[in-house]
Amino acid sequence: MPIASTAPRVFPDTAEAMYRTDLVDVRESPVSGTGAFAAGDVPAGTRLMPLTGTVLRRDQVDMDTIEVGILQIGDDKFLIAAGGPDDYINHACDPNVAFTPDGMGYYALRDIQAGEEFLIDYATSEYDSGWKVTCLCGSSVCRGVVTGFADLDDVTQQRLLPMALPYIRVKF
Ligand SMILES: [Zn+2]
Repeated sequence: MPIASTAPRVFPDTAEAMYRTDLVDVRESPVSGTGAFAAGDVPAGTRLMPLTGTVLRRDQVDMDTIEVGILQIGDDKFLIAAGGPDDYINHACDPNVAFTPDGMGYYALRDIQAGEEFLIDYATSEYDSGWKVTCLCGSSVCRGVVTGFADLDDVTQQRLLPMALPYIRVKF
């Protein structure tokens, strides 16, 4: 048995079979770049796809120059995109998907029709990674700017808390 490995851990360890990745279609998005779309009608609660990628610490990631997708999954854990469909989920302030309670994947918050784009609120994973991006999602609850959870007002934090990754939920 190895004592310790310096190789980054690949996330997740759970079986792909738990997820309905057959319902996920990756293609060009009207929101931004490439997106993930419903390949069929998706009932609320369906587990869609696991998070995949390589886990690095904050001091191993140069936030200013990194060009691949990056997801904060812990106070000092960042998931670096590995090319799975989970890398292509765009942001919306009124999302139709959220993180599973175990924080290992994405599930449908409501019934989603074939062809709809899967959208998540990025503040439910990012806590304090520091970036800000203008939001053009057009939702009635659009905040205008995408920030980490730490920068949200109290009302928005309470609304998003049930959808947030476990490492954020335990702070409140
Ligand atoms: Zn928005």
